[in-house]
Amino acid sequence: MKLLDYHIHSDNSPDGKDSFHKIVESAILRNLEEICVTDHYEIGGAWESFYNPTRFFQDHLRADNMFHELINIRAGVEVGNPCTAPDKVNEVLDAFPYDFVLASLHDVGGCDLAVKDYKKENIDELLKEYFDGIHAIIDFGNFDCLGHLDLPKRYMARQGLELDIYKQYPLELNELLMHLKEADKGLEVNVSGLRTDMGKMMPDMNVLRMWYACGGRKITIGSDAHKSDDVGKFIEEGIDMIRECGFTHIATYEKRKLKYQPLEYTVYD
Ligand SMILES: [Zn+2]
Ligand SMILES: [Zn+2]
Repeated sequence: MKLLDYHIHSDNSPDGKDSFHKIVESAILRNLEEICVTDHYEIGGAWESFYNPTRFFQDHLRADNMFHELINIRAGVEVGNPCTAPDKVNEVLDAFPYDFVLASLHDVGGCDLAVKDYKKENIDELLKEYFDGIHAIIDFGNFDCLGHLDLPKRYMARQGLELDIYKQYPLELNELLMHLKEADKGLEVNVSGLRTDMGKMMPDMNVLRMWYACGGRKITIGSDAHKSDDVGKFIEEGIDMIRECGFTHIATYEKRKLKYQPLEYTVYD
């Protein structure tokens, strides 16, 4: 089984700490065979102007020239809140040779999910708005895979609150996964939560089982590393859980074309 990490941020993201070069070196040291660097192209707010795809692709080319015999380096992007300016997003995605596009919803009601005070929020209403936002992203359609489906869980956990969308919103979740499946998109397993006190993947196993039951087979895995030390962390654990849910393959992408990798082998070295 190929070890891969399909969600990594370099310093081409405003919150990324390390250079593209350092990210790749770290991935090689950890025996990853394929990585996809997915810097933030966040629509709306100060982060939008930070994103410079020309610089990103220069970094990618330089690293690829140097390390292509040791590792596959895919050029990705994490498009945040694409429905705010779909035409602008389409223009950037058309203009550059991306391998993979991850779409994420980071804002609800014009406010970053990371900075909300969840004790003051009506969680049912917030989640309804969040799910509506995800449906809108699926309708937007110019992406390959949906990032960290139950992201509010991460920020609620920091404030001592628990969110389990499988248990609390099963019908809405089912509807959402059916929509994603009909649109022929993938679902990301984001293992960054395993590095925190929350100790859970986004989404976790019950949601992955529901995805499988809906007929969903496209699944990617990513650490969501924002520094080189976190590249590839908990990927093995994530792969074990994906396998336990019945999946036999994991999705990789080249020039936006899907390529499945088998999950047969359980031994890593
Ligand atoms: Zn994200
Ligand atoms: Zn990310």
